[in-house]
Amino acid sequence: MTRLEQLLSDLVAIDSINPDLVPGAAGEAAIAAFIADWLRAAGLEVHVAEVRPGRPNVVAIARGAGGGRSLLLNGHIDTVGVAGMSQPFRPRVEGGKLYGRGAYDMKGGMAACLIAAAEAARLNLRGDVIVTAVMDEEYAGLGTLAVAERVRADGAIVAEPTELQLVVAHKGFVWLEVETQGVAAHGSRPHLGVDAIAKMGGVLTGLERLAAELAQRPPHPLLGPPSVHASTIQGGGEWSTYPDRCTLAIERRTLPGETGDTAEAELRAIVDGLAAADPAFKSTVRRDLVRSPLETPADAAILPPFNRRRPGCWASRSSRRASRSGPTPPRSTPPAFRRCCSGRWGRGRTRPRSGSIWPACSVAPTCIWPRRRPSAHERRGRAAPALAGALAGRDGRDG
Ligand SMILES: [Zn+2]
Repeated sequence: MTRLEQLLSDLVAIDSINPDLVPGAAGEAAIAAFIADWLRAAGLEVHVAEVRPGRPNVVAIARGAGGGRSLLLNGHIDTVGVAGMSQPFRPRVEGGKLYGRGAYDMKGGMAACLIAAAEAARLNLRGDVIVTAVMDEEYAGLGTLAVAERVRADGAIVAEPTELQLVVAHKGFVWLEVETQGVAAHGSRPHLGVDAIAKMGGVLTGLERLAAELAQRPPHPLLGPPSVHASTIQGGGEWSTYPDRCTLAIERRTLPGETGDTAEAELRAIVDGLAAADPAFKSTVRRDLVRSPLETPADAAILPPFNRRRPGCWASRSSRRASRSGPTPPRSTPPAFRRCCSGRWGRGRTRPRSGSIWPACSVAPTCIWPRRRPSAHERRGRAAPALAGALAGRDGRDG
């Protein structure tokens, strides 16, 4: 068993289910203690900090000699629940794959970060390599938020499972809630009642219109258009009573440039319109969790050269223009492959089969779209240590 396999097995064997998802679950304390010990033994400077009682982050640093850039490797140590799994914490290897709760999301990536950080501690790097093993990614992301407040680095890699594809953009989300207020009354006395559930009908119709309008907006080249949907609805108590309140939870998925404020303003425009048209319409809007979208700058040093975008590529042109040029891609093509940076679909190219050469942008020479299949070296999962060395300023001669 390799060092990586052993480490991943050890991590999978530790129950670290997020207690915000499964009440009473183990949480991250045990796995954080294991990781802290492992990193100390590997020679890193280790800090364990509770974000919530009994739920710590581990932040460890492989100090560089000075003069290099710093790289942060991030992974979460919590998992979702284990419903339907017979032996979730007994890792087993089958066909070259390790199975168990969290093996894929994301103790595998976490193990790779730990090995890379241990390598960094061993090598004579100029810059620091920081590894952050964070709690609570599966619910509210409090662990990474705490890290982002206190830890600074020149570059960061989050080792979530992406099948070795670089994710350079991600949507955010805004959770919103609308409550409509009615007047409770017995069903036999309609002149006294105001039906809060019926009042929510206007909100739902407005939301559906907004969803259609968002779908028509110029898409982000990698993320597509923004979206909104109803999540849950609650209201009413019994058959014979006019409901006095109804609550609708809404999720708005945001693109870079959109914020909690912009998303809330759209919802407020809907309820304000309803209130203006109907004096009996009463509502309140509340904003819950907000998580920002991300977009890595096109010329960021953290991107390997073959993944950097050429200045003048989609990052600097209007998405609308890009979306209009070029033929329509084949229907069967997944969204991620529909358009290259130039807005054109490569002539005669089709969706790549697993293991084939990725479709390259045929127009822009340094397009964001992968121009080649990951090398065997990268596929074997050694990309992180190599990248750590490159970014932290390892000198080829003294490396
Ligand atoms: Zn994950």
